Amino acid sequence: MPFLIAILVLVILALSARWTWWRPRVPGLKVLCYHKIGVPPPGSRLKELWVSPARFRAQVKYLLDHGYTTILFSDLKKAHAGKKPLPEKAVLITFDDGYENNYSLAWPILRELGAKGNIFVVYNTIGKANLWHNPASEPWVKMATLPQLLEMQDSGVIEYGSHTMNHVHLPALKLEDAAWEMAESKRQLEAAFGRELCAFAYPYGEGAYVPAVREKALEAGYLFDFSFRQGKTPWPWDRAAGPIDRLFIRGGDNNWDLALQLGRGASRL
Ligand SMILES: [Zn+2]
Repeated sequence: MPFLIAILVLVILALSARWTWWRPRVPGLKVLCYHKIGVPPPGSRLKELWVSPARFRAQVKYLLDHGYTTILFSDLKKAHAGKKPLPEKAVLITFDDGYENNYSLAWPILRELGAKGNIFVVYNTIGKANLWHNPASEPWVKMATLPQLLEMQDSGVIEYGSHTMNHVHLPALKLEDAAWEMAESKRQLEAAFGRELCAFAYPYGEGAYVPAVREKALEAGYLFDFSFRQGKTPWPWDRAAGPIDRLFIRGGDNNWDLALQLGRGASRL
C-alpha cells in the first residue's frame, strides 16, 4: 500500500510539473502567438512552431465555446483610445512571419468558425520563403503572396502588423539600421495594404526589452509592440511600462494547455 501511494504521489508530481495548474490566475491581455499551421516538413528541428490544423481548429473552437471574443488589432486600438471597451473575454490570435499555410490552412478555419486573426508580416519575404532560417536546421517553406494577404484582409477576418523588412536580430544591428527595419516595413506594408499599421512584433522577441530599440519602434509610429515573452500584460495597457507579452502555443499543446495559458499565463514550467 505505501508503495501504491508513493507511485500516486510521483504521478501527481509529474503531471504538476508538465501542467502548471497550481499557478495563480493572473489578469491581463490574452494574446496567443502562433507561427505555422500544418505538419512539420522532414528535417524540421523547430517542430514546436507547427500546430496541426486539427489542433488549431480545436483551439479556436474552445475559445468560442468558452465565451471568448477573438479581436483584431483595430479593436485593440479602439479600446486603447477609450472609444470602445474590449469584450469581457477578449483574445487576440496572432501569427508571426506570414506563412502561406496561414492562408491555406488557418484562414479557412477562422472564417468557418467566425473568428478573427492577426498576422505579423516580414515585408521582403512576401511571396518568397522564410529565408532567415538556415535550411539545414529548418527547411524553407512558402510565405503568403501579396494577393493572398490582400484576399484575407478583404474578408475582414485578418489584419496585419509588421515583423520588420528582413526578420533581423534587431539588437545586433546598428541602431540606425534597426530603426530602418521597423520604419521602412511600416511604410511599405501600409502602401501594400492601403491601411495604417498600428502593431509591430520583434523578430525572435529581440529588442523588445532593449530600451534604445524599443524607443525606435515607438518612434516609427507603432501604437502597439509585441514581445516574445511568455505571459499576460495588464490591460488597460501602460505603454511606457513595456511591450505586450504573448501566450506561445506549441505544437504539442492541447486544450488544457490553452486553458492554463489563458488563465494563468503559462501551462508549462
Ligand atoms: Zn518571426
